[in-house]
Amino acid sequence: MAKILVIEDEASVRENILDLLEAESFETLAAANGKIGLDLAVSEVPDLILCDLMMPNIDGYEVLKKLNLQANTATIPFIFLTARTAKADVRTGMDLGADDYLTKPFTRSELLSAIKSRLEKQKNNIKYTSNNQKKSDSFLPELQILKSCLLRTLAHRKLREFQAHYQPIVDTSSGLIVGAESLVRWQSSELGLISPGELIPLAESTGLIIPIGEWLIHNVCNQTKIWQDAGYKNFYATINISVNQLIQPDFVSKLLKSLVENDLHPSSLELEVTERMIGQDMNTAINRMQELRSHGLKLSIDDFGTGRCSLLHLKQLPIDTLKIDHYFIHNIDKDRQKSVITKGIVEMAHNLNLQVVAEGVETKAELNIVRALKFDKTQGYLLSHPLPVTEFEELLLTNVRLIA
Ligand code: C2E
Ligand code: CA
Ligand code: CA
Repeated sequence: MAKILVIEDEASVRENILDLLEAESFETLAAANGKIGLDLAVSEVPDLILCDLMMPNIDGYEVLKKLNLQANTATIPFIFLTARTAKADVRTGMDLGADDYLTKPFTRSELLSAIKSRLEKQKNNIKYTSNNQKKSDSFLPELQILKSCLLRTLAHRKLREFQAHYQPIVDTSSGLIVGAESLVRWQSSELGLISPGELIPLAESTGLIIPIGEWLIHNVCNQTKIWQDAGYKNFYATINISVNQLIQPDFVSKLLKSLVENDLHPSSLELEVTERMIGQDMNTAINRMQELRSHGLKLSIDDFGTGRCSLLHLKQLPIDTLKIDHYFIHNIDKDRQKSVITKGIVEMAHNLNLQVVAEGVETKAELNIVRALKFDKTQGYLLSHPLPVTEFEELLLTNVRLIA
């Protein structure tokens, strides 16, 4: 049964909710203040959190902000309990990424229906998300080993254990490589090759994404300049950015410094952010994105279609490119509904002057549809896996057409 954490400072209200949930056979955790609530959220990773808005010291907004900063707690469905009916309070909570709110006093059926609908939504999200945090959480001892190893590696500044691999981004009509997505790899001397699926959530939850991200940005700027100087003047690289990186106050200045140090034009970098991540701290994220764009950097929405971003919403985002998630491309040739939806997305994105990239193209049949739907660019194992620098360079320098 689902595990629900109740964070509520008023004992009578808390006990009431707990009784109600236990009567419905939910597993429960109780916290009498925000601090205990946060500790329990991190150690227990509940399936859903009910949290009072008005609490002394750490209030409900603060709890949610802190949960948003850690990868393993950021995706837990969060419902505010509020005695206030003021629209502004509710709005603030929703802007911070709360999933729902209940105004006290609420009825048993209101509470249960809000919980049920959130748990259902989360189940679907997990199905579609590529974030395999949940998987790694169920192997806690391994996760601990991985974490201490990562801490040791960074403490000794053994950054050579990290590498960027590059996956070609191919112009769909010419078939030529126009850019590359950088993807981090950790070749640990103690544990062997660790995939980003394991590394990134851990790096995010520990804050180590900041030094790793800085290293990657510097490295990618340096490499991109080398390839441009080799004659590929318009070559660009994309970098995946985590929310924890984006909201660092010095993120933009450090990034600009890396560009200057490598004498690289800002338009040679495209930063990939996900819809999910913008939703976590919408105002800060959008401000930061606007700032980056004002300096000439490009921005894209990664894994489009898996989060909450509607096409309508896109109009307000300072972006250049939409990367349509692998989910939409997989078997697109066999699934009429998928191809109809995807066609609509591409057309609307073009109307908004956005470039559209197909991710995860694995078969010729999928590629044919991607071309027919007029995707601007294509990535996927069919054209090339992500490659280490030397192998990518060989491919680039042959000027090979990856789409005939
Ligand atoms: P993503 O940004 O969606 O990156 C694409 C992932 O899809 C890569 O996995 C890539 O190897 C894989 N892929 C490419 N073509 C195909 C295909 O045809 N079929 C299939 N099934 N998969 C394909 P990878 O390298 O394991 O990265 C996984 C995720 O880790 C990335 O997903 C991204 O979210 C995250 N990540 C990787 N590097 C970084 C990084 O430097 N910083 C941050 N913040 N996240 C990163
Ligand atoms: Ca990406
Ligand atoms: Ca993606």
